[in-house]
Amino acid sequence: MMQTIVLAGGGHTHLEVLRRLTAERDTEVKWILVSASRYHYYSGMFSGFAEGLYTLEEIRIDLKKICTDKNIDFIEDTLQSFDPEKREVVLSSGERLPYDRLSLDIGSHTAPDKIEGLTEKQVQIKPAHLFPDRIEACRKAKELVIIGGGAAAVEMAFSFHQWKQQNGRKYDRVTVIASSDLIDQKSDAVIETLFNHKGIRYFKNDVAVKVTDRYVVTEGGEEVSYNEVIFLGGAQAPELLGESGLPVDEKGFIKVNACLQTPDDSKVFAAGDCAALTTHPELPKSGVYAVRQGEVLHHNLMASLKREGMKDYTPQRRALILLSAGGKQALMLYGKWRQFGSWAWWWKDYIDRSYMKKYQ
Ligand SMILES: Cc1cc2nc3c(=O)[nH]c(=O)nc-3n(C[C@H](O)[C@H](O)[C@H](O)COP(=O)(O)OP(=O)(O)OC[C@H]3O[C@@H](n4cnc5c(N)ncnc54)[C@H](O)[C@@H]3O)c2cc1C
Repeated sequence: MMQTIVLAGGGHTHLEVLRRLTAERDTEVKWILVSASRYHYYSGMFSGFAEGLYTLEEIRIDLKKICTDKNIDFIEDTLQSFDPEKREVVLSSGERLPYDRLSLDIGSHTAPDKIEGLTEKQVQIKPAHLFPDRIEACRKAKELVIIGGGAAAVEMAFSFHQWKQQNGRKYDRVTVIASSDLIDQKSDAVIETLFNHKGIRYFKNDVAVKVTDRYVVTEGGEEVSYNEVIFLGGAQAPELLGESGLPVDEKGFIKVNACLQTPDDSKVFAAGDCAALTTHPELPKSGVYAVRQGEVLHHNLMASLKREGMKDYTPQRRALILLSAGGKQALMLYGKWRQFGSWAWWWKDYIDRSYMKKYQ
């Protein structure tokens, strides 16, 4: 009897699952990809795109084309909810799809309701497919404020600053508001030096609490004027995960075991940002980990249908981070090492382009 695997979301992990599927495969299994967008957008190249170094075609992958080539059903729609008891997903169009196995890779959001006024005022760049359309407002903002002090926030500050420098907007200002150190304790001094050198303003160890029509207000009493504000202060869980009734962690991300399977329902799998690994609850929400989960997820979805042995996902102990600092320079973060230079950018560019070539 034909069995159906529904892949919900065209994120980094599902892209790798699609790559591993061949057109000639088990005819008893039907694969369906439901994606909010026809394209997968590669976040590793967001900074270069914001800076103007890459074109749109260079940072995205046509999921519909891959599906057509590989005989996979492609539905451009948004997953609204899923019902583990009825074993069906409900799409925004109202369509209901029954499944034998469901895999979720729907990423995360950046819409914090903890900061008063931000939800209405921010330029929302996640889910990932929103990013290309939204960056123009940030490039052209006289005062751009980025809330967040992690790798994504720092990298985007460098990129928008660089774009402004090169496009006749030297008098615009980019400001970062970070509730802790810049990236981490080991990177803080390097980032501060670079920010000071480039003229990027920053407030550290201060928390944004409110966004009014004109200012981002911090706990420390700063009133930072803005034309556009972006929140990059951490990933938020899509609400539909918790609404399913399956266990979620304290932030609302769906719990999965080392096989990327939800512990209460062996028919549901999840990976990437939307999943909370019970074996590694502190795993950062990062594309680097999402990509590596693809091989395990691909194997386990098939193995679980065939009742064969499943693989465990073990995250790499240390991830190499190459952070673009604008102007074709980058900072390498690896364990306790911090190194800066043009060579790091060329290395990052090579890795990112090679990654894209695998799928394009
Ligand atoms: C500005 C920025 C820069 C970043 N840079 C890096 C970096 O350089 N390196 C790195 O490792 N990480 C980076 N990250 C983090 C990285 O983006 C995420 O960790 C990564 O995208 C997670 O991959 P994913 O597969 O979970 O989901 P995503 O790649 O986000 O994909 C999820 C997909 O699901 C779709 N979707 C969402 N909801 C639904 C729904 N209900 N139904 C159907 N489809 C849906 C979305 O449109 C999206 O295409 C960055 C993040 C940001 C915000």
